[in-house]
Amino acid sequence: MKFTKFGVKLFCFFLLVSLVPLGVVGTIVYKYVHDRTKDEVLKQLESTAYNLNARLNLLLTKRTYRVVDFSSDGFIRDCVEQMSLIPPGYSHIRDNLNTHLIINKKGLDPNILEVEILNDKGKVIASTAQEQIGKVKSHEDYFRVPFLSSETKGTFFSGDHRRSESHNELQLVFSTILTDKVLHRPLGIIVTKVKGNVLQEILDIKKYYTDKEGLTGSYGEVYVVNKDKLMIANSIDSGGVSFKQTVDTKVVQEVMATREEYSGIYENYKGMQVLGTALFVPEANWVIVAEKNINEAFLPLAKIKYFFIISGVGAVFLVCIFAFVISGNINSIIRKLIEGTRRIANGDLEHPIIIGERKDEIGELGESFNLMMNKLKESNEKNKQLFLQVKRGRDEWLNTFDAITDIITIHDKDFKILRANKAFYEKFNVNTAQLSDKKCYGIFHGTDMPWHDCPLEKSIESLQPEYEEVDDPKMGGIFLISTYPLFDEQGELYGIVHQAKDITFQKKVERQLVEKAKELKMVNKELEDFVYIVSHDLKEPLFAIGGYTSRISRVYEDTFDDKGKLYIDRIRVNIEKMSQKIKEIMEVLKIGRVTYNFKNNDIDVITEDVVKTLEGRIAKNKINVIIQDNLPVVLCDERRIKDVLSNLLTNAIKFMGEDKQKQVKIGCEENGGYYKIYVEDTGIGIQEEYREQIFKIFRRLNEVEAEGTGVGLAIVKKIVEQHKGKIWVESPIKDGRGSRFCFTIPVIERP
Ligand code: ADP
Repeated sequence: MKFTKFGVKLFCFFLLVSLVPLGVVGTIVYKYVHDRTKDEVLKQLESTAYNLNARLNLLLTKRTYRVVDFSSDGFIRDCVEQMSLIPPGYSHIRDNLNTHLIINKKGLDPNILEVEILNDKGKVIASTAQEQIGKVKSHEDYFRVPFLSSETKGTFFSGDHRRSESHNELQLVFSTILTDKVLHRPLGIIVTKVKGNVLQEILDIKKYYTDKEGLTGSYGEVYVVNKDKLMIANSIDSGGVSFKQTVDTKVVQEVMATREEYSGIYENYKGMQVLGTALFVPEANWVIVAEKNINEAFLPLAKIKYFFIISGVGAVFLVCIFAFVISGNINSIIRKLIEGTRRIANGDLEHPIIIGERKDEIGELGESFNLMMNKLKESNEKNKQLFLQVKRGRDEWLNTFDAITDIITIHDKDFKILRANKAFYEKFNVNTAQLSDKKCYGIFHGTDMPWHDCPLEKSIESLQPEYEEVDDPKMGGIFLISTYPLFDEQGELYGIVHQAKDITFQKKVERQLVEKAKELKMVNKELEDFVYIVSHDLKEPLFAIGGYTSRISRVYEDTFDDKGKLYIDRIRVNIEKMSQKIKEIMEVLKIGRVTYNFKNNDIDVITEDVVKTLEGRIAKNKINVIIQDNLPVVLCDERRIKDVLSNLLTNAIKFMGEDKQKQVKIGCEENGGYYKIYVEDTGIGIQEEYREQIFKIFRRLNEVEAEGTGVGLAIVKKIVEQHKGKIWVESPIKDGRGSRFCFTIPVIERP
């Protein structure tokens, strides 16, 4: 079975979970047992060292008493006293003394090697060893210290000595002062030299130690080191190891230097790690050392260690089996899930995963997985539909984008073109790759900086749509450029739509129209001039005709019969009419020719004036005239506007008809840079189709008999136009009754 990474991790986790507590407990137990073992072994070693020290002290005390006992021997004291008094003839005394020493002193103690007596000069005067007699030993400690120092109270253990250079044999030397009986004057000293074996005896293995204690050489030992760092006794060498072994270890050095006890782990003279106690013996400057091999001292620990290792291995084995089974199970499920996921990733939503009948979380996981797959299938279907819709939308958008004949481009804020329609590519002959290299103004205008008044640049600044007409030969015509900023969800500008509409043709037509309008104006002017001149020129012949007609009728009054007279009258009436018409035509034309005196005039005042002038007619016709309060101050020619209002008010009176409620209202509204002044009546009204015509000269409607020539409104129109305004009529009442004449004057204030 191939394990998944998760399976391996799970396996490791089980292993870790089981081994860590085992390791922790093992370490704590090991440490505890180690410390306890160490304490106990050290306690045991300390006790051994103290016991040996006690035995050693006993030995030294016993031996010291022995020599003191010798010094109180009357015979010895007498002999020495005599020998000090009668030198050198004391050979018999000396012989007796020697014999005494050999028989009664050395002879009684097999451990005594030698007994000798030195006089106050340090010379050997008697000895159990004949050859020593006569030698001077004043330099020896055992002479100098008790004899010359008062601190020792005359008794001294001079410590360990080599017996001779040839033998490496140990002897212990004890000495004490000999005094005379009466005055207690020092006579010399008595010295006993004891076999080193006595020292070895107190370390006797069989007597004092058992194998159980482990100090008999199996893995531990007890030994004594003298001040020269030489081993002078050892529990494992019953024969004595005197002076054979140097023990210059750090522990011995330290104990000798500090004269204090040491316990712990250290390296012994064999280079072996040991647990040991070193005790200083001040009486002899010795160090008692009791130590055990560390490996063996901690042998119980090894058992614990093995226990934990075996338990660990056992636990690992069990855990391995357990973890293997569990993680193997989970592993196979994970594998199935991975395979299922891969299948989904590859678009296969038809095969659910099968992990068998399980009531646990894994079973739930499998069910959830299959549920998820079904949901995914459904959502996939929806997504497909959505995708198709989006694609269709996108295609439509693209097709529309490309179908538009205007050049449309989408730019970023750095004047780079992000997207462009077909019209653009056709116009500028660039490909998509080239777009990323170039700035838009380079492509559109062939410049290395934006076009002056560039709307794109303006939109980037204003964040508003901008428009500009651009006439650039490089673009090959006149274009109306429109730019529209694009914003993201956060309202940040991310691009600008740039539309270039070719308006070259419209512009051409526009210019032609302007030209045509100019021409028309000129023709009109010429026509007006012509009419004016003709009218003016007609006046004279008409006057002449009139004159001659009058003369004919006067001169031939009697010649004409009634019919002729009627004809002559008709000619005169028509000449009158024609003359009047010519006058009116010239009046209308004059309106366009006179100079206007534009000033700020209060319409309030002008209206009041006009109404006052027509007061009589208003009263006569019982018309209620309402003038709006606060009519504005307007830049206009006072006289002409008075004519306008007078004409309109006169017409309102004239065409009021016989309605009961006769009312004229004069008012003004300000609207889009214009004042709209109106004169509204409740009169007979004007039918829709005539509302334009009435402004033409001589045009009158025949509904009501009223005086007039049909010139008034033509003059009014001319005056309004001279003020750059418009005039029209509307019906304020629904059934077509009443008229509202409105005219505009721009709101311009002239200082
Ligand atoms: P006149 O008043 O001399 O006839 P206008 O040019 O002033 O000439 O008027 C032209 C015609 O417009 C009038 O004859 C009349 O038919 C019509 N008209 C003018 N004002 C009004 C009005 N307030 N109500 C009805 N008809 C009017």
